[in-house]
Amino acid sequence: MTWRGPRTSGKDPLLAKSAHYKRNRAHWQRLRLPCAICHRAIDYDGPRTINGKQNSRSLVVGHIVSRYHAKRMGWTEAMINATSNTRPECRACSNKSGARLGWQVQQANANRGVRIGKTDAHRW
Ligand SMILES: [Zn+2]
Repeated sequence: MTWRGPRTSGKDPLLAKSAHYKRNRAHWQRLRLPCAICHRAIDYDGPRTINGKQNSRSLVVGHIVSRYHAKRMGWTEAMINATSNTRPECRACSNKSGARLGWQVQQANANRGVRIGKTDAHRW
C-alpha cells in the first residue's frame, strides 16, 4: 500500500462545488421526499451504481434554477447553491433533464466519498 498523502486540492473548482453538493444532498437525504419531477420514491438507501450501471432510482440533487440561467440573472454562487434552489430528483429524471456535468462531478465525489468525512473533510 502506498499512501500518497492527504489530498489538498482545495483550489479545484469541482471540489469547491462538491462542498455545496454534499450539504444539499445531506439535506434531501434527511427529508426523504419523492422525486420532484416524477413523484416516485427515491432509493435513498440504495447504491448509486449497480454492477457499474447507474441506479435510476438513486438521489440526484437538481437545481431548480439551472446554474446557466441563474448566472445570466446575476445570481451569486451562494444563491445558486443554496438548498432552497435545489430539489430531490431521481437519477432517471435527472438524466432526462440533461445533467451532463452533474454526473461527472458525482462520479468524482463517489470515488472520493469513502475516504471523506473521516480523514480529509475537516481540512477544508
Ligand atoms: Zn423522477
